[in-house]
Amino acid sequence: MSQVQPTSPGDDVVVIGAGPAGLTAAYQLAKHGRRSVVLEADDIVGGISRTPERDGWRFDIGGHRFFTKVKPVEDLWHEILPDEDFLLRPRMSRIYYDGKFFDYPLKAGNALRNLGVIEAVLCVLSYVWARIRPPKDQSSLEGWVVARFGWRLYRTFFKTYNEKVWGVPASDIAADWAAQRIKNLSLSKAVINALLPKRNQKEITSLIEEFQYPKFGPGMMWERAAQLVQGAGSEVRMQNRAVRIERTGGRAVAVVAQDREGTEARIEASHVVSTMPISELIEVISPPAPEEVLRAAKGLSYRDFLTVALVVPATASFPDNWIYIHAPEVRMGRIQNFGSWSPYMIKEGRTCLGLEYFVFEGDELWNSADEDLIALGTRELEALGLVGKGAVEVGYVVRMPKAYPVYDEGYAERVDIIRRWLEAEVPNVHPVGRNGMHRYNNQDHSMYTAMLSVENIVTGSHHDVWSVNVEEEYHEEVSTGASAGALSSAGTGRSAPVLPGRRSEP
Ligand SMILES: Cc1cc2nc3c(=O)[nH]c(=O)nc-3n(C[C@H](O)[C@H](O)[C@H](O)COP(=O)(O)OP(=O)(O)OC[C@H]3O[C@@H](n4cnc5c(N)ncnc54)[C@H](O)[C@@H]3O)c2cc1C
Repeated sequence: MSQVQPTSPGDDVVVIGAGPAGLTAAYQLAKHGRRSVVLEADDIVGGISRTPERDGWRFDIGGHRFFTKVKPVEDLWHEILPDEDFLLRPRMSRIYYDGKFFDYPLKAGNALRNLGVIEAVLCVLSYVWARIRPPKDQSSLEGWVVARFGWRLYRTFFKTYNEKVWGVPASDIAADWAAQRIKNLSLSKAVINALLPKRNQKEITSLIEEFQYPKFGPGMMWERAAQLVQGAGSEVRMQNRAVRIERTGGRAVAVVAQDREGTEARIEASHVVSTMPISELIEVISPPAPEEVLRAAKGLSYRDFLTVALVVPATASFPDNWIYIHAPEVRMGRIQNFGSWSPYMIKEGRTCLGLEYFVFEGDELWNSADEDLIALGTRELEALGLVGKGAVEVGYVVRMPKAYPVYDEGYAERVDIIRRWLEAEVPNVHPVGRNGMHRYNNQDHSMYTAMLSVENIVTGSHHDVWSVNVEEEYHEEVSTGASAGALSSAGTGRSAPVLPGRRSEP
């Protein structure tokens, strides 16, 4: 990459956050010869797509598949990392419930075998009963699914996992999400779809069955991007949090960064690209936004996430990339097997399992000591019989606040209020990315919003980044709507149900 042009004070673009969107913005700016200063609050790049390393073990926050239909993003991935750093990985995942593994996406034969004759008959009876006496209220996920599948299948494949992910009873989750994702689906169609070979789904099938993955995890991409950005003459300031954005005369003019010691530095800016949570962005703008906008920002909420990574002998493990844990007797929601993601992430005949807990920042699990979480993870793994007693050698904990922007009642209006105020009062502040826009953007769309914003900055074009569509139908969970796992879509962070407002902090 060529060098950025020398700048005079005030010409720099300040980029807040060194996750996929922020580093993409800095990278694209550099390609246009524009210098940027990237501020990253943490001591690691990659944001939610980071790959933390502990004692030589690398693992993801969740597991990050690289797939996209956005050609410029696909091209950029391969521009940042050479082809030899990408692996094409086969995908295998199953659902664990009641001591059994169900293929995911569900297959009728496998599901029937696992349920057993008696349970299968009971499921059919329960389905017939639900057809005769459908739940009166079908506005919730529970009512909607029960009406179409019956209570027993609902409890096996829908209830527990979704409750773990979203932290609210399924009877409080709005039905329109389910209705949209698995519309026109009935049990009979599900069975037919599961039995018949897939039609017209070549492209989609390939996305389901394999995915790209950097050898050393997604963090490898962002570590490389940061190096390239710095190599081109831009700055990446780690452990520097944006704490204030000064505005005057209808524009943002400077960003104040604070390091870990509390020392502040003021950086004049021609534009600000922000990937920090949009709720926090509003709070740091000075002079402050009107009360209505501040209230809208305060009203946005999040679901948080923690990973307990446990090292076990490879022989004590399983072949899946990940397993959905529907079993209600444990709190973990999913387990990643990083050895199945990349052989480069494991060593010495051992593998690293990432147990995922969906939490609220500040709740009991979030506040538990690391040793207690490791002990809990070990106990739960053993209780499920997924690894033998004493197999766990060592464990690590990573907490990830604001992993999921929550779509609750009124969130869209709140985002709209914020967005309109920003556009009117500080049009040179560009919110992009996932929490930056309070959207279920995966890496590809997070990056794409950054790419479009950079074009707006550099060429004066008028791309509407808010029209980048996160709900594109190519994604696997839609195409495999025949499976109950359609409602397990939190797996990739894309698409989410509308939840009730947070009534009580756990
Ligand atoms: C469990 C899970 C699984 C996922 N799986 C996939 C997948 O398979 N494939 C995929 O493509 N995507 C996946 N995603 C989504 C992906 O992680 C995000 O789309 C992506 O990381 C968003 O990038 P971003 O740059 O917008 O934000 P982030 O990744 O959130 O990065 C924002 C950065 O800004 C920094 N920051 C925040 N506030 C400040 C401040 N005030 N000053 C300075 N820095 C600040 C943060 O520390 C962070 O580094 C998954 C997400 C989750 C939660």
